[in-house]
Amino acid sequence: MLVVMKNDATEEQVQAVIREIEGMGMRGVPMPGSLRTAVCILGNKGPVDDSRLLVMEGVKETIRVTKPYKLVSRETHPQPTVIAVGGLRIGEGKPVIMAGPCAIESEEQALTIAHLVKKSGAQVFRGGAFKPRTSPYSFQGLGEEGLKILDKVRQETGLLIVTEATDHINIEVVEQYADIIQIGARNMQNYSLLRRAGHASKPILLKRSFAATIEELLMSAEYITSEGNNQVILCERGIRTFADNTRNTLDLSAIPSIKEVSHLPIIVDPSHAAGRREYVISLSKGAIAVGADGLLVEVHHDPPHALSDGMQSLYPEQFAELMKEIKGLIP
Ligand code: PEP
Ligand code: MN
Repeated sequence: MLVVMKNDATEEQVQAVIREIEGMGMRGVPMPGSLRTAVCILGNKGPVDDSRLLVMEGVKETIRVTKPYKLVSRETHPQPTVIAVGGLRIGEGKPVIMAGPCAIESEEQALTIAHLVKKSGAQVFRGGAFKPRTSPYSFQGLGEEGLKILDKVRQETGLLIVTEATDHINIEVVEQYADIIQIGARNMQNYSLLRRAGHASKPILLKRSFAATIEELLMSAEYITSEGNNQVILCERGIRTFADNTRNTLDLSAIPSIKEVSHLPIIVDPSHAAGRREYVISLSKGAIAVGADGLLVEVHHDPPHALSDGMQSLYPEQFAELMKEIKGLIP
């Protein structure tokens, strides 16, 4: 349930409502809006008796939230959320482009790719230092050494950094180096990681699991926001279907579907969806056309020798071409 305060309600009246909700054994989370504040009630086991709240000073009305997710729902927050990070505004209309290798392999590799993607217009550099690999024998990433390389990339190029935390332990160090902390598809339902991300001081890029419904993705986002971090960017990266022409099936319908029910921004990763670089430009154009707030694209200067995901990594010239082609689609 949402307790909508009057336009002229005071901070004391908002706090009094929160105390009343706590007295009823639930949590009240204030959600300031442009015109008025609403207080979202969390933790109710059944229907809430709003009679005590409706008579309080400053309360305008109560609204029942029908979705199981509350804080990330559009019912609670009708305006789209814009994530401000290092001068960028994600979710405000102009797509944000994040590009770089799957994994950080060396300083030379990272800097070479970073300069190339920056030249083509990328605003954020991606690259994993902690890699969640399907096989325990595959390259697992450089760990903190990789994070230090990312720090150097930021200093040399001015690009912002998005990099993955794979558990609730390494998120501590990732948080120190990243501008945006990525939570990967395999970890979308790692609840201890999600809860810890809810206490992070940085925005979270939450990727949809290849086996998750939209509702499950939004419930995972709710784990983060319910702990206090409302800076969440969602990412569609392909789901597993019977189709075997691509590594995963890019679900572009997720973009309008999510925008209908949630205020969070959503970007698209065409690389992990396609699994083959040949399809990445077309899928990127599709993503922008359906209203994605950005792209997360794998680019490598030497894909045949990449330590991970070389098949789906664009050559730098292809990334330059991608940037040129999507330009025409951006209003
Ligand atoms: C990645 O972005 O490199 C990655 C591992 O992606 P996903 O979690 O979507 O598989
Ligand atoms: Mn990858």
